[in-house]
Amino acid sequence: MTLTDNTQALERIPTTKLDPADPELMEELLAVVERVARQGAFTMGTELEAFEQEFAEYCGSPYAIGVSSGTEAIVLALKGLGIGAGDEVILPSNSFIATAEAVSLAGARPVLVDVDPSTHLITADAVEEAIGPRTRAVIPVHLMGSTVDMEALLKVTKPAGLKVIEDTAQAHGAFVGGQRVGTIGDVGCFSFYPTKNLGGWGDGGGVVTADKGLADRIRLIRSHGEQPRYHHKVVGTTARLDALQAALLRVKLRRLDGWNDDRRRLGAALRAGLEGTSVQLPSAATLDGDHVYHLFIVRTPDREALREHLDAHGIASAVHYPFPIHRTEAYADLGMEAGSLPVAERLAEEILTLPLFPTMSDEDVQRIVDAVRTFGGEN
Ligand SMILES: *Cc1c(COP(=O)(O)O)cnc(C)c1O
Repeated sequence: MTLTDNTQALERIPTTKLDPADPELMEELLAVVERVARQGAFTMGTELEAFEQEFAEYCGSPYAIGVSSGTEAIVLALKGLGIGAGDEVILPSNSFIATAEAVSLAGARPVLVDVDPSTHLITADAVEEAIGPRTRAVIPVHLMGSTVDMEALLKVTKPAGLKVIEDTAQAHGAFVGGQRVGTIGDVGCFSFYPTKNLGGWGDGGGVVTADKGLADRIRLIRSHGEQPRYHHKVVGTTARLDALQAALLRVKLRRLDGWNDDRRRLGAALRAGLEGTSVQLPSAATLDGDHVYHLFIVRTPDREALREHLDAHGIASAVHYPFPIHRTEAYADLGMEAGSLPVAERLAEEILTLPLFPTMSDEDVQRIVDAVRTFGGEN
């Protein structure tokens, strides 16, 4: 296919679309904004409590706590578990930097491990190798919306007495063996950043756990250790989910399974269409592994050329993420040289995120598939 006037006239396909892409939903959300604004109750209160109850039910978890971001969700989980100075926490280097930042912010040391070259995810074997005398916890990241092999991981963490904190920021609603992610380890940490599978109109996050003591401690810390008013039991912080975000998320939560189904269908269509092309696709970690396609990632040694080719065909792309955590400037003091985690480093050079969002059309899928097919001249 060559660049024709026809191609030029087509609307550019972005990597993702936010709520204005769905006018009906927008009307409902704008009404919610007005309702909350007129109530004038912006922190804590009934909207937050209702969201927490609905989100707990959705996840199939006894407790959910709304917090200010996904990063803060992990910080609070660690603090609530009593993990901090002198402790080590194992996590994959192929993740958003927030996973490591949360460990650092809690005062502990992130121990970054390599990922599997076919799934791009952390493995039980890599965790087992990294366990040392100071290891207290592991943070499996269900990256892209693809689920980690939790059964294998728990077989390693349980005998070692390690806590498991699931980073579910990219996998809201995904299942592992009949259970939603976030409920398989000791605690699950969600982000409601606008582009996530469940996102608000600003920053937000959530924690789910079956451990009542942990839930109570997180609730205390997120709001100045206060219970009741002006009785400060522990040194806490300001890390609440805003009432406005909670109210918006309540509306969107009712649609999450439908959107995830759309993402799964579109992901499968892209996958089928890209079969036999020059790009490689990540595989599932387990036979029954779920994928809610927060990101649709392909791999090619010619990434920059593919990006330009797609761009010329009106298709946006992105890189999640161009640096593995151990090679960021922020984590230079870990002293992890180039070559120390070869799979994550190679992936960072070769991965490309193609467009995928629930309102994407079948024509969009076909345009993306056609554009990738004509890259590098294969069939
Ligand atoms: C988005 C994200 C976070 C952090 O969430 P924020 O709400 O942006 O703080 C953590 N981990 C992963 C894997 C993420 O994608």
